[in-house]
Order: sequence, then C-alpha cells, then structure tokens
Amino acid sequence: MNRNTLLLSFGALALLATSAWSADPSSEAIASELRDKALRGESIAWDFVSELTTRIGPRPAGSPAERAAAEWSARKLKDLGFENVRIESFPMTWWVRGTERVEITAPSPQPVVAAALGGSPPTPAGGIEGEVVIFPTFEDMKAAAPGSLAGKIAMVARPMPATQDGSGYGVAGIARRDGPTEAARRGAIGYVLRSLATGGARFPHAGGARYDGARVAIPSFAVSEPDAQQIERLVKLGEKVRLKLSSTASYVSNATSQNVVADLRGSERPNEVLLLGAHLDSWDLGTGAIDDAAGMAIITGAAKLIAQAPRKPKRTIRVVFYGSEEVSQPGDIPLGGRTYSTVHGSEIASHMLAGESDFGAGRVYSVSLPRGAFASPFGTALTRVLAPLSVVPSSVPPGNGGADIAPLEKLGVPVFVLNQDGTNYFDYHHTPDDTLDKIDPAALSQNVAAWAALVWLAADSEVDFRALRNSDSTAKR
Ligand SMILES: [Zn+2]
Repeated sequence: MNRNTLLLSFGALALLATSAWSADPSSEAIASELRDKALRGESIAWDFVSELTTRIGPRPAGSPAERAAAEWSARKLKDLGFENVRIESFPMTWWVRGTERVEITAPSPQPVVAAALGGSPPTPAGGIEGEVVIFPTFEDMKAAAPGSLAGKIAMVARPMPATQDGSGYGVAGIARRDGPTEAARRGAIGYVLRSLATGGARFPHAGGARYDGARVAIPSFAVSEPDAQQIERLVKLGEKVRLKLSSTASYVSNATSQNVVADLRGSERPNEVLLLGAHLDSWDLGTGAIDDAAGMAIITGAAKLIAQAPRKPKRTIRVVFYGSEEVSQPGDIPLGGRTYSTVHGSEIASHMLAGESDFGAGRVYSVSLPRGAFASPFGTALTRVLAPLSVVPSSVPPGNGGADIAPLEKLGVPVFVLNQDGTNYFDYHHTPDDTLDKIDPAALSQNVAAWAALVWLAADSEVDFRALRNSDSTAKR
C-alpha cells in the first residue's frame, strides 16, 4: 500500500465511522445508535473487565489490591476522556483471611471445603472443636433458647433456590449476615453456614457477616453445598458429628478504602447529575469478574459510548466506583456508599437519577423506573429503544436501587434498575470460580447497550425525575 491509498483508506474509514449519524439526529435516534454500537461490540467494556481482573485480580475491601484497582481505574477513566477524576479515600478495617481449615473429626474424619466469612475472628492456634447442631433455617436457630448452644457449633442448612431475579439470595442472606451474632447469643463457639449457592459445585461462597462491635462474634465459615449435604446426612444417620474449625484471620484497623468518581460534563445543565455506580472491591477467592468488575465495565463502556455521540447530553453523567461494598463494618450500609453521600452531601439535591450495576453480566430482561417515569417522554422513548434488546418495562418498582446507591435513594434521589438474568449468578458469586471466563461477551454487550440507551435518554431529557418521584403517580407529565 502506498501513502496515497493509505490516506484514502483512512478517509473511507472516517466516513464509515461517522455515517451512522444523520445530520442532526434526534435524542431517540442517538440512543438507538448507541445501543446498536454496543451490540456490535464497539465498546471498551470487554477490554476493561479483562484488564482489571487480569492485572489486579482479587481486591478485598481495604486491601492494597483494592487501592491498586482504584489507581488503575482512575488512570483508565482519565485516558478515556472523563473529567474531574478523583480518588476519595476513607478509613476502614481490612479483614485478612489468613490460612484456614475445616474438618469433620468424628465420626468419620474428612476435610470439608469451606471459607471463613468476611470479618470472622481467628480461632485459637489449635482450632476449636465441637458438636454440630443443624438448623433448617436461620429462624429456627433464632428460636433456640439462650445458652442452648453452649460449646456447640451451630449450622444453618437452608438451601438456596436459583431464581431469575436473585430473590433466593435475598431470603437466604440473613443467615450469613446475622448468623454468627445469633449463634453466639445462644452460646455457640462457632458458626457454619451452608453456602449461599446454586449450581452444586464443591466451592465455598465467601461473603461478609455483620460485625458485633469491632468484629464478627465467633469464628464463622461457609461450607460448600456438597459438604453441607454430607454433614446433614451424617446427622440424619444418628451420628454425633464433630467439626474442627481453624483460622488465622486478622484485622488491620488502620487501612483505607476509596471511591473513584469521574464525570462527563453535560452541555446545558451540568449541575444536574445522573449517577452510574458499580463497586471496586471483590472477594478474595476469585478475581471478582462477575462481582463486580463486570458492573464497572458496563457503566464505563456505556458512558464512553455516550462521550463519542455527535453531541453532549444536557446533564452530567457521573461514574462512581464504590470501595468496600462487600464488607459490613459496624452499621448496615456499605462504607463506600455511605461516604459518597456524606462527601457529596451538598450536591445530592441535584442528583436527578441513579442506578448501579452489580449483578454480573447476565442479560438485561426488564427495566424498573422511578414512579411516573414510564409515562413520561423519557419513558416512552426508552421503552421503544429497549424493545429490540428484549428488555420490557417492569411492574416491580426499583426499591432502593442497590447497596451502594441506597443511601442516595434514602436522601430522595430517584433510582432505576436494569434487571438482569441472575439464574446462574449464584453458581459463581463469591467463589474461586468468579473469573473472567464466566462472562459471556455477547451478554456483556447487551448490558452496555441497555445502559447506554437509558443513560443517554435520561441525561438528554427534560424530565424532572425528582419532581415525578414526589408527585402523585397518576399526575400527567
Ligand atoms: Zn457485588
């Protein structure tokens, strides 16, 4: 190829790249084109999730790896052209897993595949040993009398069903969060949870337990689904089953976590913010690909596509990577979300809409909007643009929008949810198997397409979502 043909080719390419846009496209036409570009794989989402999970890998809340992920992603956002990129640090306690072992010591000694729950204290050097008492549900354990578990290891064995919307996790989750505290209140020396798992793989599912004061009450572990079944069968055979729990977990009380915040400034009403959230930290057993590098990639990919549109949207689009979502330190709200709503307190009144992506990369099947929004010009355009993606309006309200943006929702910010198919999400969630290969690139692209369309339309809209939220739902807009 000589220099002239090369120039000609570049010219032709440039023409091809811009020809998708008509001279003065409507807002809805831009949303449709953003959707189609994403579906064609023309977003940075895959490269983002691949690079983050490969370069950094696991990034527990408060760890140096989480810090490295924050610095890497801040650089990435700057390189992608985001403005006002900043890292906002806050203090926390970093829980370090250490080494651990769970075994059945009687009647038939054998190893158990298990992982300490996040925040679990270490055992004494020789471990702790006791007879296991199984409860079918968390509520059954709570019904046990004070002192009735003295010297015992309590186990909650409720199985978790796979559901499209992930509601099985919602029901089972309390046994992980509050199980250690409630077991300890009844005298137990240790706590064992049947993993909050679907799929049946012999992996433990990690996850945070609630702090009881400065730490989780007693050494607590999640055992794999097949191991939980084994323990249950032994008990049903009439055996007194003894477990031994060992852990060298530790706490680093002067650690820091951080949120990463970046903007694409709006053209007409830059003070009005549309917030897109995902979380930076992950559990330590896998590389945090589905939870939640995928979410970071989806929102960044969508925002970057919008930045490449023929004009800027009217409102500012803000991407927030929240630190420390996975661990519950004293208090119920994740620290990253709590910190953002405090640090940005004076701006919250101009946050028009917020959404977070924290459910892997399963395809989006429906959208939940704030009250009244479906009937607005934004809602009718969105319904049309999402139809080719097989995304339908949901009659289920968006609730608090998710763990990280819940503090904003509480302060009056309207939220939306792009509901994803989570049927297989809990096969991998919080396990060593949460790795890049579990992400389907086509489904990732479909997510970016839905996010790009929704965020563009909302950012370019005249609709006042805050007024809608506070109005009578039947009021015409
Ligand atoms: Zn998550």
